[in-house]
Amino acid sequence: MSPRQETLGPEGSTRAMDPVAHDGEWGMEAGLRPKSLADFVGQEELKERLAIVLEAAKRRGQPIDHILFAGPPGLGKTTLAGIVAAEMGAGFRITSGPALVRTGDIAAILTDLQPGDVLFIDEIHRLGRAVEEVLYPAMEDFEIDIVIGKGPTARSLRLELPRFTLVGATTRTGLVTGPLRDRFGVVARLDHYEPAELVAIVERSARLLGLELTKEGAGEIAGRSRGTPRLAIRLLRRVRDYVEVRGSGVATLEAAREGLHRFGVDEIGLDHIDRTLLEILCVRFGGRPVGLSTLAISIGEEPETVEDVYEPFLLTAGLMERTPRGRVATGAAYAHLGLDVPVALVPPDRGPSLFDEADGGETEAGGQRLR
Ligand code: ADP
Repeated sequence: MSPRQETLGPEGSTRAMDPVAHDGEWGMEAGLRPKSLADFVGQEELKERLAIVLEAAKRRGQPIDHILFAGPPGLGKTTLAGIVAAEMGAGFRITSGPALVRTGDIAAILTDLQPGDVLFIDEIHRLGRAVEEVLYPAMEDFEIDIVIGKGPTARSLRLELPRFTLVGATTRTGLVTGPLRDRFGVVARLDHYEPAELVAIVERSARLLGLELTKEGAGEIAGRSRGTPRLAIRLLRRVRDYVEVRGSGVATLEAAREGLHRFGVDEIGLDHIDRTLLEILCVRFGGRPVGLSTLAISIGEEPETVEDVYEPFLLTAGLMERTPRGRVATGAAYAHLGLDVPVALVPPDRGPSLFDEADGGETEAGGQRLR
């Protein structure tokens, strides 16, 4: 990795802790993060496209085009941004949308960049409008306008920036404004990982952690990690804790099963909150469509958290569906919870809806728009 890897706060200051760290695991994950494209498991199509863009830029001796990575949390967006910087031998700067409050925050970061630097902005859909507008000319023409002074004596100064690469990450492509999205040369979506890919990630991480792990143990952890590398690594750590304290030190199939059971993770990787969500749909609301905010309130979470963290896997796994009238559990969800599948699951487009007014925007005229 580049010698100049820094994390930037609002003032452009370097922080010891990463503001985009997830669950405080940045430090712990750092050693496990793949540092080259070759080490990065899965997402083959995306990697091939990136490899071409990287190679072409290297041949031209230019920084690569701005890139936007989209997809659910924990699939490798930050990791890929770091890889882009490492592969280009460039500096890597990290910040996030919510950390950039004032236009001065982004201006300070941009004017401090070195030629070729990769600037990573996580949660880029959460940038304020004014900050976003500073980014437009920076991305397009590598210049920014800054205002010096106040009141009648204020004047605007145009500053040239070094050529840099902006890598944005978002869990919500829909919330990235058109003008910002259009300024990215590459827009790539990351999808949930296949079981075999997760096995490879678990095995690689176990090697790096110095944990002895059987093939079956790796399969069990991978199978419960909801298609998400971050979760696979987190479960692996819990299994490691378990085998070190209660087991033989080797992560076998039985040890993985027993360890994960103790931590409340079921056979397909659902935890207590996932199961509660499904129970609310199946039992409390009797299978009728339920609006996002009603669902969120029922589990004491924000609607955004339900949408970003819990829903993506439940949808991918075919346990839940989003319909114009709200969220519904599928037959597979009833079966998974050990409940009788209702003879006639209410068809998504009919039946009484429990979607509430507070969910405004869930449906538009004709109820066609899905969120
Ligand atoms: P995101 O930015 O999308 O939330 P991260 O890049 O922070 O996700 O990845 C979360 C964790 O999963 C990191 O520890 C990273 O090392 C690991 N990881 C993600 N994708 C892969 C992959 N394809 N191969 C190996 N490890 C991965």
